[in-house]
Amino acid sequence: MKLPIYMDNHATTQVDSRVLETMLPFFTEKFGNASSRNHLFGWESEAAVDTARQQVARLIHAASPHEIIFTSGATESDNFAIKGIVDAYGQNGNHIVTCAIEHKAVLDSCKAMEKKGYQVTYLPVSPNGLVDVERLRQAITNKTILISIMAANNEIGTIEPVREIGRLAKERGILFHTDATQAVGKIPINVEDMGIDLLSLTAHKIYGPKGVGVLYVRSSKPRIKINPLIEGGGQERGIRSGTLNVPGIVGLGKACEIAQQELMSDGERVMGLSERLKTGILSQLDEVSVNGHLSQRLPGNMHLSFAFVEGESLLMGLKEIAVSTGSACTSASLEPSHVLRAIGLEEHLAHSSIRFGLGRFNTEEEVDYTVRRVVEEVCRLRGLSPLYRAKKTKVGRQETSNKLQESVS
Ligand SMILES: *Cc1c(COP(=O)(O)O)cnc(C)c1O
Repeated sequence: MKLPIYMDNHATTQVDSRVLETMLPFFTEKFGNASSRNHLFGWESEAAVDTARQQVARLIHAASPHEIIFTSGATESDNFAIKGIVDAYGQNGNHIVTCAIEHKAVLDSCKAMEKKGYQVTYLPVSPNGLVDVERLRQAITNKTILISIMAANNEIGTIEPVREIGRLAKERGILFHTDATQAVGKIPINVEDMGIDLLSLTAHKIYGPKGVGVLYVRSSKPRIKINPLIEGGGQERGIRSGTLNVPGIVGLGKACEIAQQELMSDGERVMGLSERLKTGILSQLDEVSVNGHLSQRLPGNMHLSFAFVEGESLLMGLKEIAVSTGSACTSASLEPSHVLRAIGLEEHLAHSSIRFGLGRFNTEEEVDYTVRRVVEEVCRLRGLSPLYRAKKTKVGRQETSNKLQESVS
């Protein structure tokens, strides 16, 4: 086993060697511009992009590869979906529904729309991170043009009821966008069955390269019109201009093909690793809680709060293991993340939490090492915590007095 250990697969993933191999020729001899219509170099690149489009379409069960629009990543796709739809459908209504635990790319795009005079409802979530579909139904007005709810959360791993949301959106004739960046390639996603009209994904979360992603835009039932964010050369049918990142797109396609072939086996294996991590830690430590939904969660996500321990101090002690603090502080202020606030996690527990993100390249050996080191560090830090010791002696005294009472009665 090699150190350091990478367990932060929600932040990014290592490029699969099979993906890299597929990409390499497109940096060297196959360097053509996919828009060059009059020579072999261009045709070769265009054909490779077409193949990738089919590979992505197959993974998410899109009806046609033309519904796949290549972007620079999920941040762009989320911006594109929200701003592009509002721009195209704004005359039909001025209301968007989203939820409190979305990625900042969705939340900040919605805020930008608020500044332009649109109304946005940010639905709350349950303590395990679920959107309530009934609440969503009540939030819809005759001015609602778009629902944007993520497929799975990047911090706590909760999987949202996308199919039910899709059905509701269809019933009400409202467009439905989902940020499926964490879900695609990890759990089955079917845009047809799930009633998804727009979907964001990115290559670097599914063992592909950084800087390339997709916005899926439904082209029938209904045919969606979306206005471009980026204008210029007219690539991607004029809705996303810019010379195509051919090596990146080829890599994304290959990553999707592998994900589709290995989704079930990978998912089962990775879930086994997360469970092993969880039981290993919970069986040796008290005062540890699991955040997010216990069953409706991403196979590779384990989000734990270690009471009486500062997440930051724990990370300092575990320098050879790459994980994230649950506070995922987006600012220097060390505030708990908006996700942990939205699930109502007490502030001290939010500051005590760690996100483990397991993935394709993690091994049982790495999990066992991590369990051992986490237990060691948590015990060491709690040994320094007067609060923890006070609690333990109180509990100890309580138990002794209970025993005494039992023996008396
Ligand atoms: C990583 C992530 C993004 C951003 O994707 P980029 O390709 O890095 O821009 C958006 N949404 C979710 C849920 C993510 O996990």
